[in-house]
Amino acid sequence: MTLTSPDLDTDARVRANDRGHVFHSWSAQALIDPLPVAGGEGATFWDYAGNSYLDFSSQLVNLNLGHQHPDLVAAIQRQAGELATIQPAMANDVRGELARRIAEVAPEGMSKVFFTNGGADANENAVRMARLVTGKRKVLAMYRSYHGNTSTAITLTGDPRRWANEPADASVVHFFGPYAYRSAFHSASEEEETARALEHLEQTIILEGASTIGAIILETVVGTNGVLVPPPGYLPGVRALCDKYGIVYIADEVMVGFGRIGEWFAVDAFDVVPDLITFAKGVNSGYVPLGGVVISDAIAAHFDTVAFPGGLTYSGHPLACAPGVATFEVFERDGILERVRDLGERVVEPRLRAMAERHPSVGEVRGRGLFWAIELVRDRETREPLVPFNAAGPAAAPMTAFAAACKKAGLWPFTHFNRVHVAPPLVITEEELVRGLDIIDEALTVADEAA
Ligand code: PLP
Repeated sequence: MTLTSPDLDTDARVRANDRGHVFHSWSAQALIDPLPVAGGEGATFWDYAGNSYLDFSSQLVNLNLGHQHPDLVAAIQRQAGELATIQPAMANDVRGELARRIAEVAPEGMSKVFFTNGGADANENAVRMARLVTGKRKVLAMYRSYHGNTSTAITLTGDPRRWANEPADASVVHFFGPYAYRSAFHSASEEEETARALEHLEQTIILEGASTIGAIILETVVGTNGVLVPPPGYLPGVRALCDKYGIVYIADEVMVGFGRIGEWFAVDAFDVVPDLITFAKGVNSGYVPLGGVVISDAIAAHFDTVAFPGGLTYSGHPLACAPGVATFEVFERDGILERVRDLGERVVEPRLRAMAERHPSVGEVRGRGLFWAIELVRDRETREPLVPFNAAGPAAAPMTAFAAACKKAGLWPFTHFNRVHVAPPLVITEEELVRGLDIIDEALTVADEAA
C-alpha cells in the first residue's frame, strides 16, 4: 500500500504522541525530531507528508528482506491464527523447523540453536556458555566493536557507546583488530596487518593470562564501527589462537549473518569455524524480535547433563520463528545470496570505487555484498577524518549536511562518525540501487566542500 496523498492530521497526531510520551533510545529527548513513518514496501518507506525514501540503512541493518515482504507478513498472520504464543520449555513446530533450517546452513558440527529475543541477549548467552564450559571468566573483545546494549553486551562493546556504563565488569578486556586504513600497527600491507594484529592478540592473551580467558568475541565483519572486512588469514589466525589457549571463539553475526555479505553466515567467506555464532536481525528481518546462538556440538554436549541457566519468557517466540522459516523459503526461491554477491560486485563496488576517484573527501571505500562503508576525510594524505572521532552536534555538521542532502533527494542514509554505510535491503532492485548510489554521489559534493 502506498500513500497517495499527504495526511497532515495524522502526521501531527503521531508527532504529538511521540514527543509527548515516547522516551527514545540513545537520545537526548529534547533534541530529537523523529520522522513519523506511515508505511513501506521493499526498499522504500514513506512518511505522512508525502515524502518517500529509499532505505539505505535497512532500519539499523535489519530489514534484509525489505519492508512488508508479503511472505513474511503472511507467515506471521498464519502463525497468529494457529498458535500465537507458547513458552520456551514446550516444543513447537515453527521453532523446531527454524532451528533445523539454521543448523543446515551453519558450519558443520554446529547443530543446535538457542533462541533469544535479539542480538544483545544472544551475546550475553554465548558469553555465559563460554564461561560455564571453560570455567574461565575473562572475555576479549575488539575496541572497534558493538555487541549490544544489555549489561554484559555493552561491556563487551568496544566503541564509545560503552562509556556511560563504565567502569564496568572488569572481566572484559579490549584489543585492537585489523584496520589497514588506520592501522594501529603501522602496517604497510594487508599481510603485515594480519600478522601484526595476530601478534598483538597473542601478546594480549599471554599478558592477561590464558588461564583466565574464557572467550574471544568478534564481529566477523565489523559493522557499525566501519564495515571492516578482515584481511586474509586473520580469522583463521584467531581460531588457531583460541585452540592453542583453550578459548571459546564467539562470532557475532548479528549484523552480517543471513545474507548481508552474500553468505548465510559470514564466517563461510573467511574459511573459519567458530564455536558459537550469534545472530538476530536478518534471521526474520526484525518483523518480530528474534535472535539466537548457534552452538558447536562439543559445547552443546557439555549441557547434556548440566542445565544451561538461560532463557526468557519469549525466547523462540512462534510469531518470530514463523517469518524466520519464511525467510529461508524466500532466500532459496529468489536466490537472495547470489543476487547479493552479484549486485555487490557488479553494481556497488565499481560505482563506489569511481566515487572514491572523483571525490576528494573520500578516503577509502570498503565492503562486500550489500554492506559497504565510505570513509570521509578532510585530507587524503593525512587521512584526518572529516569529523572528529565520536563527534556530535555542531562538530558533526559536515556529516549532518551530507545526510540532509541525501534525505532531500529521497534517500535515507546510514551515517556513523565520519562514515557513510551502504546497507540497503537485499531485495532492492538494480534500478533503485543505482538511483540510491547516484544520490550518494551527488551528496558527496557537500562533503567535498566541507573537507
Ligand atoms: N551485535 C552486533 C554486531 C550488532 O550490530 C548489534 C546491533 O546493531 C547487536 C549485536 C545488538 O543487537 P540488538 O540490538 O538486537 O540487541
